[in-house]
Amino acid sequence: MLYRKNPKNGDELSILGFGAMRLPVKEDGSIDDKTATDMVRTCIDNGVNYVDTAWPYHMGESETFLADALADGYRGKVKLATKLPQWMVKRLEDMDKFLNAQLEKLNTDHIDYYLVHSLVGSSWKTIKEIGVLEFLDKAKADGRIINAGFSYHGDPEDFAPIIDAYDWDFCQIQYNFLDTNVQAGTAGLEYAASKGLAVVIMEPLRGGNLADPVPKEILDIWNEADVKRSPVEWALRWVWNHPEVTVVLSGMSAPEHVQENLKVADDGLPNSLTEKELQLVERAAEKYGELMKINCTACRYCMPCPEEVDIPACFEVYNNLHMFGGEDRLKMMYAAKMGGILRGAETNFASQCVQCGQCLDACPQHIPIPDTLEKVAEEFEGPGLGERIAFAKQLFADDSC
Ligand code: SF4
Ligand code: SF4
Repeated sequence: MLYRKNPKNGDELSILGFGAMRLPVKEDGSIDDKTATDMVRTCIDNGVNYVDTAWPYHMGESETFLADALADGYRGKVKLATKLPQWMVKRLEDMDKFLNAQLEKLNTDHIDYYLVHSLVGSSWKTIKEIGVLEFLDKAKADGRIINAGFSYHGDPEDFAPIIDAYDWDFCQIQYNFLDTNVQAGTAGLEYAASKGLAVVIMEPLRGGNLADPVPKEILDIWNEADVKRSPVEWALRWVWNHPEVTVVLSGMSAPEHVQENLKVADDGLPNSLTEKELQLVERAAEKYGELMKINCTACRYCMPCPEEVDIPACFEVYNNLHMFGGEDRLKMMYAAKMGGILRGAETNFASQCVQCGQCLDACPQHIPIPDTLEKVAEEFEGPGLGERIAFAKQLFADDSC
């Protein structure tokens, strides 16, 4: 494992952080505690010393899970990060309530890295007026938090004013080879680093979009490289190539992800990719831009939808159609999945959206969700859906019930 220094406090942080947002789950959707605990501990045993969670991850269960996963002496081996769900805060005292509840859930007396979660320009204005900076000062002074930061999903122009508004110790931004000009982007990364902040990176694989499955057109580009690397390796190495980056969070959801990420992290030195390799990554980014229709990272901040539309699942199937083809198979999968057949749940077709607009502000990618769902419905519903549902019921009835 390689380490990079937090310029604010000298902490030597592992370049790979464990993100507890996409943990392995059982059939009923609850966290697979045993597998997930093994994954967390394997990472720590191999040098990972930064673990990140948040109030809403896994419907509130991620923090509770980590309390157990970090028992048996593992808590002392890591810097633990969690986040204030600022969108749920109505008054100053709510912030204390959330932090104290998180300390209890995580079974710890302090949070090493505490973030104001998922800021955009407007939410920053609101939470600042409620008194978040006074709250952070107080929580640092009484030792409940050690370092204060924020995670960001807003527009590029709103990033620097937040950086300048407080003596932050770190920030967390979305960054990958496709997202160089959205949200904080490269300019934000460089600005935060120039101000002496540690920069933690989230979504290095863009919600897994850059990892699997990878379109043939992209694989062809990777195959041109002199040094052969997996798509995951290219994506992570590109982020680590930036010396301004401190930690890269990976939301590992299977033991094999742990093994691959640990291996790749051994080589994640700054400025280690050649000019030729960087040009290859740029070409892959251009090709993805041509192939991907909807900019969804599957973060699920838009969920739950009151009409039970599974928004990211709808977008995933739409993007897959446009990236990989396979219309018949994907239409059948859509019917089975959104028709509730595979999960034995309620239907959640894109056409069930009633355009209430509730999801719009929650989307860090600023996707016009209701309008985009209409396009999904146009392509995947209409004539033939009833037959596909009936066929999927026949096909999956035995396995799914
Ligand atoms: S606009 Fe549509 S998708 Fe969004 S929350 Fe409302 S019903 Fe759900
Ligand atoms: S639509 Fe937006 S909020 Fe919902 S999962 Fe995709 S990126 Fe996240």
